[in-house]
Amino acid sequence: MKVVLDSPLDMHLHLRDGDMLKNVVKYSAECFAGAIIMPNLTPPLTTIKEIKAYKKRILDFAGGLEFEPYMTLFFKDSYDYDFLKEAKSFVKAVKLYPSGITTNSEGGVKNFDMDKLRGVFEAMSELGLVLSVHGETDGFVLDREKEFVDIYENIATSFKDLKIVMEHITDRRSAVLLEKYDNIYATVTLHHLLYTVNDLLGGSLKPHLFCKPIVKTPEDKDVLRELALEAHPKVMFGSDSAPHPKEKKECNGVAAGIFSAPVVLPALCELFEKYGKLDNLQKFVSDNAKKIYDIQPPKKEVVLEKDEFLVPNICGNVVPLCAGEKLLWRCSVGSG
Ligand SMILES: [Zn+2]
Repeated sequence: MKVVLDSPLDMHLHLRDGDMLKNVVKYSAECFAGAIIMPNLTPPLTTIKEIKAYKKRILDFAGGLEFEPYMTLFFKDSYDYDFLKEAKSFVKAVKLYPSGITTNSEGGVKNFDMDKLRGVFEAMSELGLVLSVHGETDGFVLDREKEFVDIYENIATSFKDLKIVMEHITDRRSAVLLEKYDNIYATVTLHHLLYTVNDLLGGSLKPHLFCKPIVKTPEDKDVLRELALEAHPKVMFGSDSAPHPKEKKECNGVAAGIFSAPVVLPALCELFEKYGKLDNLQKFVSDNAKKIYDIQPPKKEVVLEKDEFLVPNICGNVVPLCAGEKLLWRCSVGSG
């Protein structure tokens, strides 16, 4: 049995930099035609020069694989129209992090005063730049995304022409915004489709399932599954694959982030097959994103075969999701 995907896209990906970038980029570049690359490096990407140089490093390490890195800028309320206009040739989205909320987000937004943010949001609306948002407060960990709903609503109603992507949604109480506002979209990760807080800490603590936003309740997971399996037109796949070295994941003070890139397509196939929804996978992993972002990725046929895939225990110095487990599908790349 085979599934052929036409130009799959990962609409939320962390590739890091330096040796880590060199180690992890192939896992995405082999099986995807393109990806939205997150800008939370240290320091974050805030200039066109940095973005161009980072894109070049990604392509150099991808070693000739057919893969388009769609770049993003780290949101600053100080950006002006002229800068964003120039940036538009090089980036697809501007990524907004509330300050201090996740890995390398210290330079993010501290205060969601719309008057302060108006200039940038208006310029982005006019230029057609997507606003990509890590929507969490610093409140109680299971309610952080829900507490951010007011901010999403405030932005959506104040800037009706701004395309807003709720990144890696995890909570049924934010998923309702997809129906409520025309200009709100979402990405969903693999791990939020597979796991709940019980998997993370209901038995022994699983540091490799620790991420931000944290995995949530069975009810939340069911709502996300429904959106993904039905390939809701406003929902895209975004892995949020976020590698950390093994020693940062197996220690006191575990870093947030799940390295899922080596397993995402096989695991999605398994999930969609289980629910008889394999026909919807193409839309979830590519077609919806192409429409929402208005992009034409390189033509790349990715074949998934129903054949046992033993996930490696370690990829370089990073432990992947499902390490050491057997999956039912494997990826093999066809010709474009
Ligand atoms: Zn992320």
